Amino acid sequence: MAQYQINHICGHETTEQIYGTGVHGERTRQADKLAGRPCEDCRRAKALEAAKGRAAEMPALTGSEKQIAWALTIRDKQLKDLSAKTDQLNENVAKFAPQYPAQAETLSVLIREFVEAETPQTEAKHWIDSRSRDLAVALYERYYLAVEAIQNEINAAKKAEGEIKTAKPIPVPAPEAAPVAEMDDATAERLAGETWARVQDWYDASEVEQTRRELAAGDTGALRGMIADILATQAVSYGPVGVDRVLQTLLTREALSQ
Ligand SMILES: [Zn+2]
Repeated sequence: MAQYQINHICGHETTEQIYGTGVHGERTRQADKLAGRPCEDCRRAKALEAAKGRAAEMPALTGSEKQIAWALTIRDKQLKDLSAKTDQLNENVAKFAPQYPAQAETLSVLIREFVEAETPQTEAKHWIDSRSRDLAVALYERYYLAVEAIQNEINAAKKAEGEIKTAKPIPVPAPEAAPVAEMDDATAERLAGETWARVQDWYDASEVEQTRRELAAGDTGALRGMIADILATQAVSYGPVGVDRVLQTLLTREALSQ
């Protein structure tokens, strides 16, 4: 582990912990890679700006200023992912539409209705609360189950007609697992700090006390949910391991034991 001063291309300087061996210049290469990117603050600001730009064409959100700022980036990412998934599934529908036109129409409607039901929500809190539910994944699951049901119907109809062979299966795109990044100490510390700041920001004093008592009793449910929310807004996915990592970091903090 070593500390590096990084001069980012945005002109800001940060100190970064770089892990691993430097025997073959790995650390220097990693430092160069970091320098080739804007600093984290700039990247976040840029994401928020982009989200705001795209939000100009979207219904305005309601809620407190803080909630809206948070919800904007969440909605932006959710809808971007949902749009990509919608394109992928519509392409899938188009593939078997010539063979099964009625079923293809049913699936097209399913996709459209899902998008129409999810996108017009304007309460910032709705987007924040639904953060742990990935819309693209939710749509994919619904689509997958619908294709399965349709496939069963087709097979049953064939069987009723006395055909022995089942119908050629409708191909469904495989769910892609998001790559999970490893979390370094500095990130764990930062996210633990953000989580605790949010607890204090969102909860009143008695709820903060309640959270402390729950933690003392080993009940980490509420905090896990909050950590998952915060992790969901990061540029990379840290997976369930990341939630544990932040939780453990948070539990060692002095603020919690006071
Ligand atoms: Zn910067």
